[in-house]
Amino acid sequence: MGMLKNMDGMTPSQQTTSESDPILRASNTASAVEDRSENASVTTQPSSTQPSPAQTAAESDICDSALPASGIDPQQLPRPEETEPLKILWQYVIVLSAVHLIALLAFLPFSFSYLFTWSGLILGILGHFTFGMLGITVGYHRLLTHRGFTCPKWLEHTFALLGMCNLQDSPSRWVAIHRMHHQHSDHQPDPHSPLVNFLWGHMGWVVCRHKTLDRTSHYERYVRDLLRDPFYLKLERHGGWFFVFVAHALLIIAAGALVGYAVSGGQFGEALRYAYSYAVWAVAVRTVFVLHGTWAVNSLSHVFGYRNYETRDNSRNNWLVALFSHGEGWHNNHHAEPRSAAHGHRWYEFDMSWRVIQLLEMVGLAKDVVRPKAVTKAKQTAG
Ligand SMILES: [Zn+2]
Ligand SMILES: [Zn+2]
Repeated sequence: MGMLKNMDGMTPSQQTTSESDPILRASNTASAVEDRSENASVTTQPSSTQPSPAQTAAESDICDSALPASGIDPQQLPRPEETEPLKILWQYVIVLSAVHLIALLAFLPFSFSYLFTWSGLILGILGHFTFGMLGITVGYHRLLTHRGFTCPKWLEHTFALLGMCNLQDSPSRWVAIHRMHHQHSDHQPDPHSPLVNFLWGHMGWVVCRHKTLDRTSHYERYVRDLLRDPFYLKLERHGGWFFVFVAHALLIIAAGALVGYAVSGGQFGEALRYAYSYAVWAVAVRTVFVLHGTWAVNSLSHVFGYRNYETRDNSRNNWLVALFSHGEGWHNNHHAEPRSAAHGHRWYEFDMSWRVIQLLEMVGLAKDVVRPKAVTKAKQTAG
């Protein structure tokens, strides 16, 4: 974990370290991304042969950070300067409120007793694994953000598509924010440290405008490697990720109607009941559950839990978060070795996502799997 005061001013030795990182070996292929910040519809064509700030930080070893060596400041952290809490991102507020309200409908007495279907609930649980685990923890996080393993492009894109079905933004935006978090964890300008306050770290940061996060320069800095792929670039330009979410929701609801129609022998009322049940349980409740699982990694796992490693942030290993987020709660381990595809480092730290990656490796679909150095070293010593 090197010290990096300023991402734009990396020392030569740091640049060398960064260049050894597989992510940083991304070429300088021109990329363009729509600037989603105010007043802007800007495209850029980076062409310099010098390593740009984008190259150095974005794809630098995101294990490295700009954190001071002295550890975290025990004082409360101020909100990042670039945020504007009075400028609410209404599109996020409306969509997130809507999905929460629909999820709450599931627990109204009439809804819970009459409109409930077992298949809707089971589909919701399966969706938690399919969309939440494969899409977010394996796809967005361990594969796209940290490059903890490699896999065929078709599989990578499939994971990304599954990730978009969780209402957690586009792959590039998610990855850029998360790489920024690793670079500055619990220090300025970490976009979502709970040391500001718990609610801010959990979900407040999602709905307040942050001047940096939608700038082209932010994308250039953190996700140039992703934006070289036209698949991710298109998703940025046309808000395609949201349509993926809507399309998957409509498909699930249509499947519910078909199932209801079939099992009732052609009754329209049953088709509607199943469609409603699938919308509530398999889409809304599951989406909200996955959302709070991800947000809890940012909030709970930076406040409550134990530490295996003296990282320069406040990250913790939290078993409850690990349980509900498929292993992501072993967050102190993760901050100690961000590129490792395994987040559970001790025998009792069960990590479901890691088991899936191991399975992918066994069948030849995952390669270059990064294992935790600390655990590997301990095993070698014992052996
Ligand atoms: Zn963290
Ligand atoms: Zn991470």
